[in-house]
Amino acid sequence: MNLMYRSTRNAENRVTASQAVLKGLAEDGGLYVPEQLPKLDVPVEALAGMSYHETAYTVMKQFLTDYTEEELKYCIRCAYDSKFDTEEIVPVKKADGAFYLELFHGATIAFKDMALSILPYLMTTAARKNHETNEIVILTATSGDTGKAALAGFADVPGTRIIVFYPKDGVSAVQEKQMVTQKGKNTCVIGIRGNFDDAQTGVKKLFSDKELARELNGAGFCFSSANSINIGRLVPQIVYYVYAYGRLLKSGELKPGDTMNVVVPTGNFGNILAAFYAKNMGLPIGKLICASNENKVLFDFFRTDVYDRNREFILTTSPSMDILISSNLERLIYRMAGDDAQKNAALMKELSETGKYTVTDEMKASMQDFAGGFATRKQTAEEISRVYKKTGYVLDTHTAVASYVYHTYFAEEFGDIPTVIASTASPYKFARSVMEAIDEKYSGMDDFELIDELNRISGVKVPKAIEEIRNAPVLHDKVIDREQMEASVKEFLGIE
Ligand SMILES: *Cc1c(COP(=O)(O)O)cnc(C)c1O
Repeated sequence: MNLMYRSTRNAENRVTASQAVLKGLAEDGGLYVPEQLPKLDVPVEALAGMSYHETAYTVMKQFLTDYTEEELKYCIRCAYDSKFDTEEIVPVKKADGAFYLELFHGATIAFKDMALSILPYLMTTAARKNHETNEIVILTATSGDTGKAALAGFADVPGTRIIVFYPKDGVSAVQEKQMVTQKGKNTCVIGIRGNFDDAQTGVKKLFSDKELARELNGAGFCFSSANSINIGRLVPQIVYYVYAYGRLLKSGELKPGDTMNVVVPTGNFGNILAAFYAKNMGLPIGKLICASNENKVLFDFFRTDVYDRNREFILTTSPSMDILISSNLERLIYRMAGDDAQKNAALMKELSETGKYTVTDEMKASMQDFAGGFATRKQTAEEISRVYKKTGYVLDTHTAVASYVYHTYFAEEFGDIPTVIASTASPYKFARSVMEAIDEKYSGMDDFELIDELNRISGVKVPKAIEEIRNAPVLHDKVIDREQMEASVKEFLGIE
């Protein structure tokens, strides 16, 4: 059966999976969603015996039905290879009563690698299948981790170029260094004077600009997106929840059919939406806990029925979650509105005009599997210190938000139900915040001293991604106002 995708804002806009991957965002500003959520076609028992590659194929073939078996297996094989520093790809570590699903063993040591190592393969395959002859220009807004992971994925991939916009003062020192040292002739990295929402809104505007699209087409280019609005990112993220279930079956922590809960440190709502899709595939997931930092729009949303972005944007120690407009929530809203594009489009219009919307009681009732919690900067730091002192395991700041939310709000309620915490970044990526949380004495050290110290206290090897940037030269130093985004894109592409 061929699974088709539809825009969340216009039911008439129907495309195949590979077309959805190629386009990223729909022309009407909506997000592509599958017309039905497919079911796992293996019994859950079978998951215990599957490798990451096998699990990936089992899940992805159900969503990307117009890719051949050979194409999909090729994409999976190329993506999840020695770029990952462990053959398990995603190890599960038990600490202090929870299971940390380590999604950060890829090239840039953040969970974005899980999807962005495969997206370039899915996309170039899609281009071939759809006879797209224009060069693909990946346009990305990043709160820090997507940018580097996308750059690493697309650097020097033939037929593609990549432009990354990041908030100049809104990413960690390591994140910025990782991006501005990126090699590859087809790469471009630009700092924006503004926050992540400014960058994301700017990128969305470029995507929906029809005049610009015509100009690009004339010059032999077309835009696509590596942000989590692309279905080609969402689908690979479903895989690791299914894989986690298999690992817990294998280690005897779960029996087939037992429930597991998940806690996800959330920003753009992509990661937790993938868990929701996994649940809809028939994976026995109970609760989906959305953990926020002080930008707790989603916490407030799940507690009330109002999504309200009208508030101060707070820079926290978990920058990849500093987001007030969680793009992927739209896919949930659409579903909860009964796959009604019109209803969804009206809510999204309200959001862009007034900064908020209210869902109906009926929609609210259908979201009962979700719950939220949040952690302040102080609570996040205390959680890193608490878990380290108790177990020796070192959490990054994002994972610590989720860990705090689990232990503070839900551990008692969940009792014996195994809980998987999506562990979204290596502590090395946020070494300063992590080390200062563990001991104030570290505040005087420079970034690389901290990294060596983290290595000493955790016993975890310094990842290649960190070693690489120690002495790497800065190759990108452009900083612009958000009004200049279009001009910068044209300049990089040589369009006048
Ligand atoms: C992107 C990111 C998140 C947020 O994930 P979403 O899918 O945007 O909700 C959390 N933690 C880290 C480290 C990230 O890079």
